[in-house]
Amino acid sequence: MKILVVNCGSSSLKYQLIDMADEKVLAKGLCERIGIDGKLKHSSLGKPDYDSNAPMHDHTDAIGLVLDALLDKEHGVIESIDEVNAVGHRVVHGGELFSSSVRITDEVKKAIEACNDLAPLHNPPNLIGISACEKLMPNTPQVAVFDTAFHQTMPPKAYLYALPYELYEKYKIRKYGFHGTSHRFVSERAAAVLGKPYESLKIITCHIGNGASVCAVKNGKSVDTSMGFTPLEGLAMGTRSGSLDPAIISFLVAKEGLSVAEVDSILNKKSGVFGLSGVSSDFRDIEKAKSEGNERAAIALDLFQYRVAKTVGEYAAAMNGVDAVVFTAGLGENSPPARAGICSYLGYLGIEVDSEKNNCRGKEVDFATDSSKVRALVIPTNEELVIARDTKEILA
Ligand code: ADP
Repeated sequence: MKILVVNCGSSSLKYQLIDMADEKVLAKGLCERIGIDGKLKHSSLGKPDYDSNAPMHDHTDAIGLVLDALLDKEHGVIESIDEVNAVGHRVVHGGELFSSSVRITDEVKKAIEACNDLAPLHNPPNLIGISACEKLMPNTPQVAVFDTAFHQTMPPKAYLYALPYELYEKYKIRKYGFHGTSHRFVSERAAAVLGKPYESLKIITCHIGNGASVCAVKNGKSVDTSMGFTPLEGLAMGTRSGSLDPAIISFLVAKEGLSVAEVDSILNKKSGVFGLSGVSSDFRDIEKAKSEGNERAAIALDLFQYRVAKTVGEYAAAMNGVDAVVFTAGLGENSPPARAGICSYLGYLGIEVDSEKNNCRGKEVDFATDSSKVRALVIPTNEELVIARDTKEILA
């Protein structure tokens, strides 16, 4: 069974074709600048890489070019489009309507559309990607895998904001959480690496990349997470502020004469470690600037790590203990100093880092000392594989 995994953004589309027999990635690529001009980067197992600047007026064009690349004699990996048995789509927001992945029907598409208000930048392009695939592969089943679904097990005390309850009833203003596919995957892997039943563990997963969130996974279920109504809440991120005093927004509107949209843009695009350091949103650049003596870069990294560590502490309290803290995504998988910095606050929980073991990148490692009471793990995430596995399971 071959599954095409599609992750559609407003002007980009990432894809992977996975052979479920051995879960090997047969081909993958990225379409960018959809609707502007068009750029495709495609690579296939054992074949030369392929780039194209063919125009992409819309997402249907983009999917068309992806299918052409997959079928291409020189760069492709399949001979007929019928070899693609199903398409799995990443959908960002499933609201309260979806607590697991589903096969896409007209009803499901309407329900995803009903969540557009909650994720105006993400859900509409996700739906466009679904329609484009339906158009070009009308007989191929499609599945939606939601970023929010894993967190639907949070209890009301975790997902409600202390706002008038009517606002929850009227607009569904509540915490949804994101990166659910990743938190689910790495927490399950952590249990496997520890050789213990998933349902018996208290795990805190730190997905720290450009976007960043922490999740408390108790007995295999998400019980709290740091992103909220939108992916802006919680940790400081590459360019996002994370949580702040909401009064700052009205203060800025009054003092700087900014519109709400302008403040929103500051909080989403100009804040986080980028805004603090003034260097970059890329942690590699900031770590380099710090090593060269840039003080603001050092503060940005300190603040970032401090807030991750505080959230881990919160979730250890929420679960009355923790068995393992897991690090994943760009920074979590690749930065020993970031992991060491965060763990330096967690000695009171019983975490002891083995510096030699921590000196690793991009592979599954338990980097706690043998005597550490709580395990500290690096687990590379693989959201595409989860989407493919869910798609396979739903169609079985
Ligand atoms: P997203 O998917 O949210 O865009 P990623 O999970 O790909 O982000 O993470 C991107 C971040 O990971 C970037 O800020 C990058 O600097 C950081 N990163 C990647 N490799 C390293 C590394 N070796 N050292 C430090 N940071 C790294």
